[in-house]
Amino acid sequence: MAETIERQTNELRERETQDYRAALGAAHELALAYLAGLRDRPVSRRVDAAAIAAALAEPLPERGIAPDAAVREWFERAGPGIVASSGPRFFGFVNGGSVPGAIAGDWLAATIDQNRGLWLGSPAAAETELVVVRWLADLFGLPASWSGTLTSGATMANLVGFAAARQWAASRLGFDAARDGLSGQPQIPVIASTEIHASARKALGTLGLGRDAVRVVPAPGGIIDLDAFAQTLAGIDGPVIVSASAGEVNGGAFDPIDALADRCAAHPGGAWLQVDGAFGLFARLDPSYRHLLDGIERADSVASDAHKWLNVPYDCGFAFVNDEAWQRAAFESDAAYLRAGAGPAADLDHLVPEMSQRFRALAVWCALKSLGRAGYQEIVGRALANARAFAAWIEAQSDLELLAPATLNIVCFRYRPSGLDGPALDAANRQAVAAIQADGRAFVTGTTRDGKAAIRAAFDNWMTQEDDVRLLSEAVRDIGDRLQR
Ligand SMILES: *Cc1c(COP(=O)(O)O)cnc(C)c1O
Repeated sequence: MAETIERQTNELRERETQDYRAALGAAHELALAYLAGLRDRPVSRRVDAAAIAAALAEPLPERGIAPDAAVREWFERAGPGIVASSGPRFFGFVNGGSVPGAIAGDWLAATIDQNRGLWLGSPAAAETELVVVRWLADLFGLPASWSGTLTSGATMANLVGFAAARQWAASRLGFDAARDGLSGQPQIPVIASTEIHASARKALGTLGLGRDAVRVVPAPGGIIDLDAFAQTLAGIDGPVIVSASAGEVNGGAFDPIDALADRCAAHPGGAWLQVDGAFGLFARLDPSYRHLLDGIERADSVASDAHKWLNVPYDCGFAFVNDEAWQRAAFESDAAYLRAGAGPAADLDHLVPEMSQRFRALAVWCALKSLGRAGYQEIVGRALANARAFAAWIEAQSDLELLAPATLNIVCFRYRPSGLDGPALDAANRQAVAAIQADGRAFVTGTTRDGKAAIRAAFDNWMTQEDDVRLLSEAVRDIGDRLQR
């Protein structure tokens, strides 16, 4: 009997080992081949929505196949729909890639499958995260006393900051927002500029503060108008939440944090200053751009992204909050089965909306450990040099124009050939974006700037070199020449 069990167990073990080896081996092989081609492949391929949907359409399999076969089959079928957005010539949105240490850390995190929520569930994950957020505070020169938390991205980091702000404001108004809810309570006003990021509105909507309840102040050139801001602030008696942009997504402009902090400090009802620095916080790493964030240490909360300029895999962002008590009051979770026999230290689920969470800190730890401060200063410095070079090239072209000064790493421009104006010019620029994307040499995305159809190129990928910027310029030049004809 005992022998049979042992034999069965041995067979099971052997099969497990084989499955792990085959599945992880297949993923390893596919991953290395992918990475080897990443520098040279077209960024995107012409892919027909119906064709890619058809390639993947299939009812739930009744019976499984070997795990390595599953991995290979997915790669084969979905392959045409993979965008090289982690590669060096993807300048769309604000993406970033993944440095080698971060990819490896992410793989290992999936393998050891730790739950970061409770200290007891993984002392390794909890303590690693505490170290990583201290490193991040140091890297960006934020006060060491602030509470730091990893999130799924800047949207959630904005939500964490606003949730803490909501607790603070409600307490001044005599209630506990998380405990009592907002129903029947006085409104908590929020002020931001017209350039407030969609994710901040989304977070405000989720928190019951109102996506469209934001009191919007004009922002000529993307920068909040301080007089208009002061006027709006003066019209509010009680506590107020102020949402500032440190790196506006269309043109990369920065609100003056120090000046906003001055006005917030002088507001009789009190003001919570939340700063969205999803990519802009990285200006702290370059001596020539650092000043853009002057006063950041006077903020009450700061949101940023790791899956953008820190170049770690999706999904990863981080939030810093000046006073952890408000953050904890917003997200405290209690359940006897979780806390009984709890560990001596931090249960991180008290600080974020989720309970169970993946071990994001490992990828960040490996990234920071493998590159160090110097490595990140170099990545940021190179991206900024590339952005400057591309902006200068745009300015030198007679049929192209910048639509915003390249304050940081975003270059916002458009074609402006003679003889085209108004809606026809807008249409031509929209067509150009699609043509550049289809060309495959480089990927840019479109936007609207001061009512004009615009094109954006964002520089934050660690792999991007001068040659990649040259290819971007060539693609922009070629599509422009085609437009003229
Ligand atoms: C990208 C971005 C966000 C949203 O971040 P996610 O990581 O996509 O959730 C918020 N604010 C700004 C300025 C951004 O660039």
